[in-house]
Amino acid sequence: MVKDLLVFDMDGVLVDVSDSYRETIQQTLLHFTGKEVTRQQIQDYKNQGGYNDDWVLSKRLIEDAGADVDFETIVAKFQSLFHGNGEDGLMNRERWIPGPGLLEELAETNTLAIFTGRFRWEAEVTLRKFNAPPFVVVGVDDVKNPKPAPDGLVQLRARFPQGVMRYLGDTVDDARSAAAAGVPFIGIAPGNTPDRPRLVELLRAEGAIEVIENVNELVLREQYAG
Ligand SMILES: [Mg+2]
Repeated sequence: MVKDLLVFDMDGVLVDVSDSYRETIQQTLLHFTGKEVTRQQIQDYKNQGGYNDDWVLSKRLIEDAGADVDFETIVAKFQSLFHGNGEDGLMNRERWIPGPGLLEELAETNTLAIFTGRFRWEAEVTLRKFNAPPFVVVGVDDVKNPKPAPDGLVQLRARFPQGVMRYLGDTVDDARSAAAAGVPFIGIAPGNTPDRPRLVELLRAEGAIEVIENVNELVLREQYAG
């Protein structure tokens, strides 16, 4: 049997990062500027596209707050808040979204892959932590051009040329990457997204064939069950 190829974005799709990455952005800004940014404001930047990389977004917020800090210094602070000593970092506030058995069921008819803006090792730490089934992972360090460029999806298609391919993501940059690769895109607009209807509208406008709230809705749909 030829398996289909189901590619997931990681953050916001497989992992709820509202209290990890997004909190790290807020704390990084606070550290360098004493200023605060709301989750809604962070979402507004994400909705613009071009801010898939949280380091780049942090730099932008710090600049907007009138501070001049070099990129390496920002990244170092961000990473130290996120990872901590390995046990006390904000990364530990990540939550795994797929319910028991979901991925195993999808894996019966699909090769499972991830195309993420994380480094591959950072994605693999999280997969191990949550005892995820096997995924083919393409990280930001595996591609020449990060999202919204299509490189990661093109690479996966070349490695698994057979079957139907789909990409699931939660941002405008994910949708643009899929469109540039010619891959059907399924939008995820998590229930806790600030101004969720706006994100649904944006993902549709960027070509999503449908927008769902949560990956756990996938098994309810016959087309994914093979
Ligand atoms: Mg994401």
